[in-house]
Amino acid sequence: MSTMRLSRCVLVLLLLSSSPVKAAESLMIYSAQKEPYIRPLLDRYTAETGVEFEFLNDQGPVLIERLAAEGADTRADVLITVDAGNLWTAAERGLLAPIDSDVLEANVPAALRDTGGRWFGLSRRARTIVYASERVAPAELDGYGGLADAKWKGRLCLRTSRNVYNQSLVATRIAHLGEAEAERLVRGWVANLALTPLPDDTLTVKAIAAGECDVGVVNMYYLARLKREDANLPVAVHWADQGGRGVHVNVCGAGVSAHSRQKAAAQRFLEWLSSASVQREIARLNLEYPVNAEAAADPLLAAWGEFTADALPLTEAGRLQPDAVRLMDRAGWR
Ligand code: FE
Repeated sequence: MSTMRLSRCVLVLLLLSSSPVKAAESLMIYSAQKEPYIRPLLDRYTAETGVEFEFLNDQGPVLIERLAAEGADTRADVLITVDAGNLWTAAERGLLAPIDSDVLEANVPAALRDTGGRWFGLSRRARTIVYASERVAPAELDGYGGLADAKWKGRLCLRTSRNVYNQSLVATRIAHLGEAEAERLVRGWVANLALTPLPDDTLTVKAIAAGECDVGVVNMYYLARLKREDANLPVAVHWADQGGRGVHVNVCGAGVSAHSRQKAAAQRFLEWLSSASVQREIARLNLEYPVNAEAAADPLLAAWGEFTADALPLTEAGRLQPDAVRLMDRAGWR
């Protein structure tokens, strides 16, 4: 009896070990990046590898709560979010697996990925100043700090402080200036507002074009997308803090779910996304900058010229995010 059990056991083991390692047939993506910017990449990966995708889109914080609630039962293999603040939160909450990948480390600059390998930037965006090209001369602009100057009273448009992009921008101001100076800056911005803070960056650009304000702070791809539709839109980009710390940059990035049962397949997908030819396509789709130095930016962005980016590691933006939220509340930035 025991011999029979043993031989049965050996047979099962033999069968298991002789079957080839099963390739992932389907990866589940939780993505805060909207589907039109991702779908062509998924389709291309499926065509090249046979790996299919399921796709769930929602706001970053909603996806993070969902991952936390699902725990070990989650079906998510990959989390894609916009803004390092969200990626940092997901990593801190133990929702992302550390990845040790020479490919990702070579393709993604160190400042744009987690030091622990839990997330990697896939495209880079700058949060900078835009202005009414018919009413403002570039020489009048003096970086983020300049927007607190009383000369912009009633002329500044900002998005709501509930938005993670602004939270990361303010977190990096705290890192650079210290809390007290950062608060003075933010209070200056709030005092200059022309309109109640807007729900999104596109509305900021449109309000400037419509003459409701003269300057604003947006992620540059929102301006680029509107410029792609209308090259004559009277709004221009200004690279902030070029004599100082450089433009605040952030990422759209991804990590592998801590409870994914297909971590190797998920890692291969991230490595593929970081490759130069795919990076070019990402940049063309979302009008952000590639993170891979081998890939060129879209011509529309190339025409805006080079800029010096803030070298502060993005993990700092995540770490100081709670302080930034409290600071913006105190300063009355709604
Ligand atoms: Fe965005």
